[in-house]
Parts: sequence; C-alpha cells; structure tokens
Amino acid sequence: MFENLSERLGSVFERLTKQGALSDADVATALREVRVALLEADVSLPVARDFVAAVQAKATGQSVTKSVTPGQQVVKIVHDELIRVLAGDGPADALKIDNPPACVLMVGLQGSGKTTTTAKLAKRLHDKQGKRVLLASLDTNRPAAMEQLQILAAQVGVDSLPIVKGESATQIAKRAKAQATMGGYDVLFLDTAGRLHIDEALMAEVQAVRDIAQPRETLLVVDGLTGQDAVNVATEFDGKVGITGVVLTRMDGDGRGGAALSMRAVTGKPIRFVGMGEKMDALETFEPDRVAGRILGMGDIVALVEKAQENFEAEQAERMMKRFQKGLFNMNDLKSQLEQMLKMGGMQGLMGMLPGMGKMQKAAQDAGFDDKMLRRQIALINSMTKKERANPDLLAASRKKRIAAGSGLDVSDLNRLLKQHKQMADMMKKMGKGGMMKAAMKQMM
Ligand code: GDP
Repeated sequence: MFENLSERLGSVFERLTKQGALSDADVATALREVRVALLEADVSLPVARDFVAAVQAKATGQSVTKSVTPGQQVVKIVHDELIRVLAGDGPADALKIDNPPACVLMVGLQGSGKTTTTAKLAKRLHDKQGKRVLLASLDTNRPAAMEQLQILAAQVGVDSLPIVKGESATQIAKRAKAQATMGGYDVLFLDTAGRLHIDEALMAEVQAVRDIAQPRETLLVVDGLTGQDAVNVATEFDGKVGITGVVLTRMDGDGRGGAALSMRAVTGKPIRFVGMGEKMDALETFEPDRVAGRILGMGDIVALVEKAQENFEAEQAERMMKRFQKGLFNMNDLKSQLEQMLKMGGMQGLMGMLPGMGKMQKAAQDAGFDDKMLRRQIALINSMTKKERANPDLLAASRKKRIAAGSGLDVSDLNRLLKQHKQMADMMKKMGKGGMMKAAMKQMM
C-alpha cells in the first residue's frame, strides 16, 4: 500500500546511510527529498512540513553513538517520527465492546466499503473472540444494500436483523437495540446509509440514529484510495457526528498511502483497521510500528541503531555505577544525573524509581524542583571550573558570586545546589557501602 513512498524513501536513505560523515547540507537535501516524497504520496502539506521539521530538530540535537553512521541514525529518527505521526499520542485501543449489548455505529459515504467492513468486523469478533454479533442495515434508500448485509452476515456466520419494509432508520435502530438486548447479543453493528457526498440530510439522519443507539464506538469507513479526500471526509464526519476511529479500506490497492499518514495528525482520530481486500478476512488492525516498518523497509538499520543506543546508555550507567560504588559523586556526576532527570520526566520521575528516595523526593518537591530548576542547576555547574566541579569545597565566596551572577541566579540558589550535592554524595557513600546502589541502579535501567 505504500510502495511508491517506500521506494522513494528507500533511495534517499540508501545514499545517506552509505556515507560515513554527513554535513548539514546532506541532511537538508535528504529531508527535502523526504518532503517531496510525502507530498507525492498525497500526505497533506502541513503534516509533511511538520514531519520534516521534527526530523530535522531531532537529527541536529542528537549525540551520535559510536557504532552507527549518522545516516543510519537519521533513518531511525524518520522511523520513530513515522510512528509518531501514525499513532498520535497513544495506541488505538481495541474496540470498546464491554457491557453487552455494545453498539457500534458504522458511518461513511456510499461505496466506501462500509457494509463489507461491517461484516469483516463481525466475523473477526465472532471467530476470534467468540462474540455473539447482530448486524442491522439502516439503509432504507437502498433495499439492495440491506439484502447485501444479510447475505454477508450469513456468510460469516452471524445473525442479522430481519428486514421490515417501510421502517425509518431510527425505527430500525430502536428495533435492533431491543432485539440485541432480548437476544443476549454482545455486539450490535448498525450499518448506516451512505450518500455519494456529504449532505445535511445524511448527517441529520446519522445524528438521530446516534442519539437513539448511544453507540460505544462510531467507526468511519473511508476509501484509502481517495487520499486527502478521505481525511476531509473524516474531518466532516467527526465535526457533525463525532467518530471514535477510522477504517481505511482498499489499502490493498495502489494508493499512495497519504490518507494513512495524514489522518491522525489532521483529525486527531486513530485509524483502527485497514481493509486489505474484498474477502471477509481481509481486515487488519492498524499497527503504527508495523506500518512504519513497511513504509521504510529498513528494519535492519532501525534495529541496529536501537541496539547501539541501548549499549551506549548501558555503558554510561555502568561507568556511573562504578563511581558511585566507590562513593565518588562530584559535580559532574550531579550534572549528568540532572540531565538524566530532565530526560526522564523530571525529578519526581527519577526519584520515584529509586528505593529509599521517598524522603529526597519530598525534599525536592519542597525545594520547588521542576524542569526549569533542573536547567538552572545545570547552568550553575557549567559555570564552574574543572577543579571546582571535582571538589566544590574549593568554592570561595567571591567565586560563588561570580558563578551565580554568570547564570543569572542568586548565591542562595548556588548554596542550595551545593547542599543538595552534599546530601546526595553522602547518600551515595552509604548506599555504595551497603550494596544498595546496585539494586537501585538496576531499577533505574
Ligand atoms: P458501502 O456502499 O460503503 O457499503 O460499500 P461496500 O461494502 O458495498 O463496498 C463496495 C465495494 O468495495 C465492494 O465491491 C467491496 O468488495 C469493495 N471493498 C470493500 N473493502 C475493500 C477493501 O479493503 N479492498 C478492496 N480491494 N475492495 C474492497
């Protein structure tokens, strides 16, 4: 489904990873090509722009680990960024179908694959989770569509609501709910009517059905081949009806894949499933990391960089641990601890992980520790000389003044830092002796 994009990116990165050293210009050129490739894949312009900007920022800020080339590192950054764009803030959860009968409202334009997807989902829940599923078509305009759903239901081995001529969509919805409750069904799928285009009548009908059905999930089915149009349709439906997720169909076709990449970023709604063909089992859950892997097709490099990063961090931690065990804890150690804390979500995150640090955590809170504070403290340490960092007792009053002023802070801030360092150094010594350090560091890693 992402063949073209995949090919384009492949050739960009093949060149990049072969080079030993990368200049800023190399990276800039590569990223320009990435941007063009994304746009050609019909990814929306703001999404493509943000994507490249995010990669650029990470690529420049990144410290290069020894065993991988800068090009390989850029591949990994692009890979992670793809996952971020595809997944948004969190994973797309499984369908919420507890509290039976749970209603799933299927919405979308005519021909998007709504009826097919309804049957595919029913089959999945029935076969894989042993759910009792009832399907009902609300497409009063198209008797053929109603019959189609009945045929598919029978084909996948689930029940469908008997068709009663002359009922309105809301009447059918009410009857379906009653039937689902009486019949002890786990899940009720309501396959709403589609139109060729979004129109007010369609939206009003879907809204009325939604109010009656009180669905746990409202899934929008859109044709993945329609690229940015699919994203626009999703935005419209979400604004008017409120959707909980998207199913992209026809992803087996030669679409350019842009809809998948823009959907989450533009609509904020997760892609939950992708349709991969006309057969009833041609439905896949949408897994951003797998999709990102497919787009880039550079799994080996991604794994290599991950491993190198792990090793690098483990080596660093090991070195630290050895120093701490000897009771060594100077200002440089404190600085790397502070930097680590910033990376791991601040003081509280880190302290919470260390056994016996509850008291320190409280002290840190009382002292008003936050990211800003951590950054200031790092700045203070940066203003010290090498000797002073190794042995802060050397700091005379005049030097303290200079250092504080140099970081735009008061001497009292510096004194607090020194006190903190002393407390931590004492604790390191104690823990080093008791062998607790090993346990503590293990927990941290
Ligand atoms: P509806 O009008 O939205 O209910 O659309 P249908 O479910 O009737 O689907 C329209 C056509 O698209 C049918 O011929 C389906 O077999 C086909 N279709 C649906 N999903 C997919 C898919 O993921 N891949 C392919 N290739 N065809 C699909």
